[in-house]
Amino acid sequence: MRFPLLVALSLCITISNVVNAIPCNKLSDTKAVDECYMKIALDYALIHNPQFPFGALIVDHTKNDISCYGANSNKKNRLLHGETAAFWNCTELYPSPTNNDMTDPGLNWTDQTLYTTGEPCPMCASQSIYRGVGRVVWGTSIPDLNKSGREQIMIRMEQVIQSAKLGANRPNNKIPTVTGGILKDECDKAFWCAFSNARNEKYYQKMVADGNLDYIKERESKFICNKQHDEL
Ligand SMILES: [Zn+2]
Repeated sequence: MRFPLLVALSLCITISNVVNAIPCNKLSDTKAVDECYMKIALDYALIHNPQFPFGALIVDHTKNDISCYGANSNKKNRLLHGETAAFWNCTELYPSPTNNDMTDPGLNWTDQTLYTTGEPCPMCASQSIYRGVGRVVWGTSIPDLNKSGREQIMIRMEQVIQSAKLGANRPNNKIPTVTGGILKDECDKAFWCAFSNARNEKYYQKMVADGNLDYIKERESKFICNKQHDEL
């Protein structure tokens, strides 16, 4: 029993160090703040589920303060993508004070930024709209996730957002702003390495047929996957 206890203890210390070692709330430049929080989301994902390093972080951008975390938890529930986990965690942590999450949520969601290591899938993009989050920042694009070998629904987040309408097909102004490609190389590497087992013969055949051989060569020379936590 001693060993699992030590492992659990060291995991807690590691997470604590990851969070405390990076003073994101001391930064003010938007790009620097975004990269800082994305690094936390990626580290969180690699600790929790290195085989599916989809990590998410929800930050109150008016206070520059972390509201909650989420990591892909597909062993518990395969619908718990990182973003979904973060939305659920935040709603549990900040429940509606009047038991009405529709009209009186426990967080001012327009003040929140969702950071996620992978571009949100249509399910998580839709939740971002329904939840009313003000901003979304992602690392690796859906096309790059797919080219890494992982199955994807090839609908971009912007397409989901543009399809959000009020009644009578009126424009919905309560849609998040989106910034993509933050810490792209670090996030791309994590997914490229994590999904190496998915790159089988059929994958290579189709990538070559589509003219993507150079893409594979570029990734293989750029990303050395010996250790999940290697820095680039
Ligand atoms: Zn998703």
